[in-house]
Amino acid sequence: MIRPMLTLRRRRILVDVDVQRDLFLGDGKHCVRNHRRVLANVRRVMAWARRQRIHQISLMTVRDSSRHGHNGDFCLAGTKGAEKVHYTLRSRHADFGDNAGTDLPRQILQDYDQVILYRHTEDPFEQPRIDRLLSETRATEFIVIGGLAEGAVRSLVLGLLVRKRMVMIITDALGFYDKAAADVALRQVHAKGAKLIESKSLLGTSHLQTVCTCPCERCRAKEQKNSLEESTL
Ligand SMILES: [Zn+2]
Repeated sequence: MIRPMLTLRRRRILVDVDVQRDLFLGDGKHCVRNHRRVLANVRRVMAWARRQRIHQISLMTVRDSSRHGHNGDFCLAGTKGAEKVHYTLRSRHADFGDNAGTDLPRQILQDYDQVILYRHTEDPFEQPRIDRLLSETRATEFIVIGGLAEGAVRSLVLGLLVRKRMVMIITDALGFYDKAAADVALRQVHAKGAKLIESKSLLGTSHLQTVCTCPCERCRAKEQKNSLEESTL
């Protein structure tokens, strides 16, 4: 009897962490230090994942002002700033809202291209619903993008590695506040077995998808300059 080839196929899952307006757009309340380059790469990774039909788990942070005070005045529940950057949203996505239950329908990643889950702690595995989905999802490899490299991404990757999962991190699609801390975090997860790659070795070089990644003034000026240069080539 010949076994169907399907069972041998590689199954990769893309996990994007906190790619939300307050954290990744230039006019967000607590924007990462390197948003411009990162957003262009996030957008290209998204386009690639769609083409490859790679399913996606999206983690989002939600905060409430009473707990975090003025210092934590970003990604507040119910605000525009807490929303996902729009091009990280797939059309067939499942979003059950922010509640603590673990009752996800079985086979959810077969029925949807993207599952969105919310977290209140830095370590995603402290949220039972996220822990369950990440632990139960059959995948040969998790591909990780988003931020913060030195925060939730680090915790996510360490948690996956402890669970003996293969992890590949796209380093130029990661946002950070503190570059030195982000470098330390990447060295740490690499030493524990995560693969680090740049987007171009996964996606090739492409000038596509670099427009309209962010509405802030710096990005708009840069995009105008690029399009002028392209039109004079
Ligand atoms: Zn910007």
